[in-house]
Order: sequence, then C-alpha cells, then structure tokens
Amino acid sequence: MMELFQVYFRVMNTVTHHHCGCGIEHRLHKSVFKSDKPMRDQYKVKLGDNYTPVMDEYKPLAAGMDSNDDGIISSNEILPPVDKIGHAQVDQPDFTFSFKHKLAGWSNPWADKYPSTAQIHQEMDELSEANPGLVHRTQIGESAQGRPLYAYRIGKGEEGEKPGVLVVGGQHAREWAGNGAVSESVEKLLEGYQKKDPEMMEKVDNLEMWFVPMANPDGYEYSRNADPDWRKNRSRHPGYEGVGTDLNRNYRAQFRFHGDVPKREGDDAGASDDPTRLTFRGPHALSENESQALTNFMDTRPNLKGVLDVHGFGRMILFPGVKDEGREAHYRKVADKINAALDETKYTPLAIPELYPTTGDMSAYGEKIGLLSMGLEIGTSFQPHPDKIDDITDRGSNAVIAFIDQVADENLPPEQLANVV
Ligand SMILES: [Zn+2]
Repeated sequence: MMELFQVYFRVMNTVTHHHCGCGIEHRLHKSVFKSDKPMRDQYKVKLGDNYTPVMDEYKPLAAGMDSNDDGIISSNEILPPVDKIGHAQVDQPDFTFSFKHKLAGWSNPWADKYPSTAQIHQEMDELSEANPGLVHRTQIGESAQGRPLYAYRIGKGEEGEKPGVLVVGGQHAREWAGNGAVSESVEKLLEGYQKKDPEMMEKVDNLEMWFVPMANPDGYEYSRNADPDWRKNRSRHPGYEGVGTDLNRNYRAQFRFHGDVPKREGDDAGASDDPTRLTFRGPHALSENESQALTNFMDTRPNLKGVLDVHGFGRMILFPGVKDEGREAHYRKVADKINAALDETKYTPLAIPELYPTTGDMSAYGEKIGLLSMGLEIGTSFQPHPDKIDDITDRGSNAVIAFIDQVADENLPPEQLANVV
C-alpha cells in the first residue's frame, strides 16, 4: 500500500462535501476531525501491558486522532476495524501495531523477524554458491548512504542473449511485507530447476531473470531500526529542509502533472514538493542514486522485456494507466493470469490511476520504454505479524513467478515453452 497515511491526513484536513456511501472515509472523517479540541500535555499508546507517551512531534496528530478524548490513542482511533481501505485489503491489528510504535518513537519489535539488508544479500550469495553458474551478482549502484545496490541474474550463459525480466523489491522502506517475495521467488526457481520441473527449467534455461531484492537499503534499515513508518530513502538535497525522497515518485515518467509548479506545495498531486512529506518527489527526476541505478539498468539492456515492482500491502496487482484499450485489456489479462496462480486469496487488479493519482513511478517508466510493466502489493499491512511472513512470501512469490511466466510466453519461441510440450 503506497500512501495510506496521505489519504488519512487528507481526510483529516477536509471537512467539506463528503458523500456517504464509502464507509471508511466517513468514519475517519467523523472520528478524526474535531477542530476546537484543546491539545493535551501528553498522549499515550498501549504497547504490550504498558502505556507509553506519544513523542512530542506527534502530539498534534495524536490530538486529532483521540476521538473519545481519553488521552490514549487506541488501535481503533488509528484505523477503524475495517478489512479494506479503498481497494486495499488491510489487517487492522498489524497495521496499528506498527503505527503505535511510530507514535511512541520506538522501532517495531518484529524487525528482527525480517531479514536485514545484509542478510538479504547474504541469502542471495548463498544461493549463488549453491547453484554454480546460475546466479550472478552485479552491483548496479550505491545508495545515498553508500550501501551497495545489487542485482542478481538468474540464468545461464552471457548477459544480453535472452529475453530479460527485472523484479524489484523494497523501493518503499516500510513495506517489509513485500521484500521477502523477491528472494523467495529466486529460491523457488532454483529449487524447481534442480528438481527438473519443466516450468522452472523453461524460465531458467531461456530467460535472463534479474532480481533486485532491496532497492532502498538506507530507508529499509532506518525503518527497521528507527521509524517503522519511514517510506523514502535517506538522501539530503541542498535547499530542501527534509530527509528522503519517495523513490517511486522520482522516475522520468510524468514527473509532475501539467501545471504543478516546482517547490509550490498547494498544487501538489501525484507526489509532493514538500520534502517533509511521505511522497516527496525529489528536487528533479532521477535526483536519487537508487532510482538512477534502476533506470540506468533498464535503459542499458535492450533485451529487457518486463519489469515488476513489488510492494506491500493491499493484495493488489497494479499496472500503469494507459490510453490504448488493447494495452489495458492485455494488462487485465495478465493480472487474471497472476491471480490464477494464487490460491483462493485473490489480488485486486487495478490500473494505478484507479488507486490514486501518481507521478514519476517506476511502473509508468517501464511502460514508457516499452516493457510489460506491473506492480504487486502483497500482504495486508506494512509489517505483518511474524507468523504471517511465510504465507505472504509464498503467495507473493507465486505471483512474481506468474509474471515471469507471462514474459516467457510473450517472448520465447513456442519450442522453448514448457506448456507446449
Ligand atoms: Zn509501496
């Protein structure tokens, strides 16, 4: 889920002309907006058995949330007990767990159940050792704070010879649910290959599959260790008072809507010019090391045919807004195919503009350069309870592999397709 709290804050600040019928917004609207309530000296959240003070900087936010005015920010005041926000499926307890920790200025104690950036890369390196000649690591750039950005190529032979596909994880720091699915799909492909599963052999033998399991390591580590609600990277730019750019608003594909003036904040749509906000688009397109690295990667590989951007959460299959009806119908068909590879829990197919207006996102850039370009939102909260991780990554990786399968179907000669045998 890309910008839930943006939606939330927008509702908070909008009093006028709300139509009934969309339950969630209405409830938020009623419970959150109380204009003339005095702010308390202190608010608290319950973490475990203890009541912990809300950090000073979040007090105004807490004041707006505290609908029953008891000084305690309860789960229901953070997010009413719903199973859906807009199109996104959400797990309210998991979602609010993380946010309460943010309000208290604590890290999410579940962080150590998720792999660190170093562990993610180590796991991939181990797969590489266990599968000689099949996994190749390439450094594609360096994060703002100097962490390496790695892409792993799965496949035989030299680069550039076979149709390519790129799967990216971790662009949004707080979306821990999304990351594991990328490395899990590598594991499944290699395991299937060892077992001579024809579907997996088809892909490993005939495609050039690239995986960037962690595209925003600085933000991810900050989200794990400091602010669980952190979404952006950790760059700083002269003249901008704030840290971090939303990487997935920084690509060279409609970087801003027509008429949106740089550095003016009142007219923001699709992303923000305010560096303190969650969706700060950056000073200019490709201002960020991380988005540059991925763009450069895509631009310099003419054999690349598809790109998939994995996020967490909402159980959605996303594709770019396109004007051509045939193209849109094609994306919807691919979404159906991905859904067919999942168990009974289906994802909602959506064109990204149906979700919310978006500028400068990676999926739009992929479409712009002619790739089959899609996104996944897996899981039902940013940081699901550890008991759910296996299930989410299992399902998510099945979706990833179904996308790769589509790239194979579109680009491989019939005799190389497993399902033709
Ligand atoms: Zn996201």
